[in-house]
Amino acid sequence: MNTKQKKLLIRIIVAAILFVPVYLISEGIVDVSLPKWAVFGLFLIPYLTVGWDILRKAALGMKNRKVFDECFLMTVATVGAIALGEYGEGVAVMLLYQVGELFQSVAVGRSRRSISELMDIRPDYANIEADDGSLEKVDPDEVDVGTIIVIQPGERVPIDGVIVDGVSSLDTAALTGESRPSAVGVDDTVLSGSINLSGVLRVRTTAAFEESTASKILDLVENAAARKSKSENFISKFARVYTPIVCYSALALAVLPPLVLLVTGADMAGVWRDWLLRACTFLVISCPCAVVISVPLSFFAGLGGASSRGILIKGSNYLETLAGVTTVAFDKTGTITKGNFEVTAVHHSPLDDARLLELAAHAECPSSHPISLSLQRAYAKPVDRERVSEVQEISGHGITARVDGHAVAVGNDRLMNRLGVEFVPCHHVGTILHVAVDGAYAGHIVIRDQLKEHAREAMAALKKMGVRRTVMLTGDRKEVAEQVASEVGITDYKAELLPQDKVAAVEALIAENGGKGLAFVGDGINDAPVLSRADIGIAMGALGSDAAIEAADVVLMDDDPLKIAQAIGISRKCLRIVKENIVFALGVKAVCLILSALGLANMWLAIGADVGVMILAVLNAIRCLFVKKI
Ligand code: ADP
Ligand code: MG
Repeated sequence: MNTKQKKLLIRIIVAAILFVPVYLISEGIVDVSLPKWAVFGLFLIPYLTVGWDILRKAALGMKNRKVFDECFLMTVATVGAIALGEYGEGVAVMLLYQVGELFQSVAVGRSRRSISELMDIRPDYANIEADDGSLEKVDPDEVDVGTIIVIQPGERVPIDGVIVDGVSSLDTAALTGESRPSAVGVDDTVLSGSINLSGVLRVRTTAAFEESTASKILDLVENAAARKSKSENFISKFARVYTPIVCYSALALAVLPPLVLLVTGADMAGVWRDWLLRACTFLVISCPCAVVISVPLSFFAGLGGASSRGILIKGSNYLETLAGVTTVAFDKTGTITKGNFEVTAVHHSPLDDARLLELAAHAECPSSHPISLSLQRAYAKPVDRERVSEVQEISGHGITARVDGHAVAVGNDRLMNRLGVEFVPCHHVGTILHVAVDGAYAGHIVIRDQLKEHAREAMAALKKMGVRRTVMLTGDRKEVAEQVASEVGITDYKAELLPQDKVAAVEALIAENGGKGLAFVGDGINDAPVLSRADIGIAMGALGSDAAIEAADVVLMDDDPLKIAQAIGISRKCLRIVKENIVFALGVKAVCLILSALGLANMWLAIGADVGVMILAVLNAIRCLFVKKI
């Protein structure tokens, strides 16, 4: 509890201690006879002790012409009750209302704290080596790009960088939600937020602190709550309309029935008092706090729970969209497959296999496409960038470059057609890299990708969640697409698409889907336009890829495809809880309102229902924080 909450708690306890004896006396349970004014005075002390801030806020609200809020409701109801001589009820309502407020603020603080604990990736310091070899702790904010920092075992990596010395293993659980330590050595990239487990690492920083992964992720998580969902907007609009309606209804309840009864010639003094009290009770019951607090809290906890599993959702509005997903479209390379191609054959080449690979690997060296990275790996020797010039990457086609003075082109059928090079088609299943040297065909390299570990399970999990349709969109050959689709159990595929065709394909799918419920999952490398065109764009394997984090609405930090189903599961649970709370709270209120209008509910019941519903709704909302592992 913070000091503000502690102060409120003390006020509540003091007021309760003062209240109980006075109440017992006023009810005649303890036999002390006091004059009426003395009883009134004795009740006023606990009332003001516990409720002065509410009265003040209500007064301020009236002064600023923003009359209708909870404080106003409580003030009118309790002052009304006291004015009608129901001192005990008036004080009790204020007291219990404050108990509810305290509970709510503690609960919100708790979940806020547990989210930041889950996302506990903010590094506090960086170690810099001083001239005498000793380590100096500095604020990571003050470390310039290119500085050498030292990370000791057990410490958190403060800033993104590249290892210049040392080997170790890194735990990225705080970023990805998965604890799978990865071995790192010289020249490997380390990302801030991960924890150094074993060796001492010396790292040259490659980004400023605020540009580093940990800072970016925290920014994203902190800003997420600002993008409101439809339900939240609805609730705040609802509260704005609802409270005045309730106030006028209470007024009507206090005035109209007695006017009708006036005709019957009943004892008017008793009638007025009775209906005024009913109106006060009505006001207490109608206080909308359970709904108003629990809806945003549920979304907030849902976003937090998801981030603890390495699923960053950029706003509660996306939680809502995600819950309604019925069709999921996938990119192939890097999303369903590992993007880790192996060279399986070299065909029809007049050149030596090794020479062909050397030319291809060199031509591809500046590209970040998974094909290029795989070629570098297959070549296994260091690539001399000096030998390469005039590189041009043509997306969906391949690459042209000048290597050792020769014009080299590496790409698919489309690239060869475009360059007017006659090629030999390949009948192997696999991705084909035709190579042309100085305008003459030089054979093709057959490469083959592997499925991701959980790709099949991921499709099964989506099907189980009621996702009707899964579609794979790829720039690769039809044969490869067909094989991958049938292996993982994807219902549909579209192959040989250029990046712009993928946008068109997604638009067609959205239209078929009635304009909603289409998610696209990609790796953000060359599919940013598709990610932003889909109803919801999900980027996988985003750890370390700024482009993916920028472009997507939902960011999966690691590249486990099972997380797609999990993200949908989290959003559905969150929306279910929101609905439960709205229905439960409004249902109980409606029943109590009717009872109070009929004179069957007193103020004790009213405040009990109000605080009780609020506590249950808040506890239910906090359930969104807990996400099962799948
Ligand atoms: P995907 O849909 O699998 O992500 P891309 O749109 O990135 O595919 O690429 C489609 C096809 O274009 C690849 O299968 C490959 O044939 C060719 N291609 C793209 N980039 C390159 C490259 N850098 N080198 C060789 N071929 C490439
Ligand atoms: Mg791609």
